[in-house]
Amino acid sequence: MGDIIYRPLIEDMTWSYSRITAFEQCPHGWYLRYIRRLPKDDRFYSSYGSFVHSLIERYYRGELSKEQLPVEFATKFATEVKGFRPSNNVVVKYINDGMNYFTNFEPYECDSFEVEKEIYFTIGDKRFVCYIDFVGFKDGEIFLVDHKSAELKEKSKRAKPTASDKKIDEILRQLYFYSAAIEQEYGKLPSKLCINSYRSGVFIEEEFDNEKFEDTKRWALERIEDIESVDEFFPFQDFFFCKNLCGLNNFCTYDIEAREERRHS
Ligand code: SF4
Repeated sequence: MGDIIYRPLIEDMTWSYSRITAFEQCPHGWYLRYIRRLPKDDRFYSSYGSFVHSLIERYYRGELSKEQLPVEFATKFATEVKGFRPSNNVVVKYINDGMNYFTNFEPYECDSFEVEKEIYFTIGDKRFVCYIDFVGFKDGEIFLVDHKSAELKEKSKRAKPTASDKKIDEILRQLYFYSAAIEQEYGKLPSKLCINSYRSGVFIEEEFDNEKFEDTKRWALERIEDIESVDEFFPFQDFFFCKNLCGLNNFCTYDIEAREERRHS
């Protein structure tokens, strides 16, 4: 792949959840980001998520009051949410959802907490880092919260999981992954894993499940083994993802070619 000797770089990596899942989304994008270290362009959806995260973080750090949250969201949206805009309807929906969330904002009940908690940890012989949105401590127990822009609903409890159930499980896997960091940092595992689906106003809680925790650690090590053994970083081209989420499409020869073809067809 070009003239970069990438194997030693991969072997020496400090891994994160997103570094593993980015490979599943597109191996070529992973190569551009983590081997070539090319900068991502701003994209509306990720920028919106970062903006909302930053406001929640500033509230918990005591820099914004509850009353200031919707005002800050409304006045800074235009400058803080970067990247080309999707359709007007989508933008308006995202603004309304954000306003609704911050107008009705309720802090989590706990004795103490940490926000955007950075933890370096290990699984097997691999090094990892994570940044956890919210770690809450209540009555001697620990709970984790991840803020997500995805519009989620409560789990269906059907025998055959729905697409939405699968999406929730995928997000919970991230929290099980973070649980390995929590165990090493605080000497105990969390009792609850929570997803704050702030655009739909749904708060999903899952009691910690040790089997899922062990599965997740195995999953992380197996995915890394897969990445370490690749010879080619093929693209997984998907029109919406390449255009709206990747952020590296201006460096991606596959996407540049695809756009050229569309222009001439
Ligand atoms: S533009 Fe598409 S194919 Fe290219 S790196 Fe990004 S996700 Fe992969």
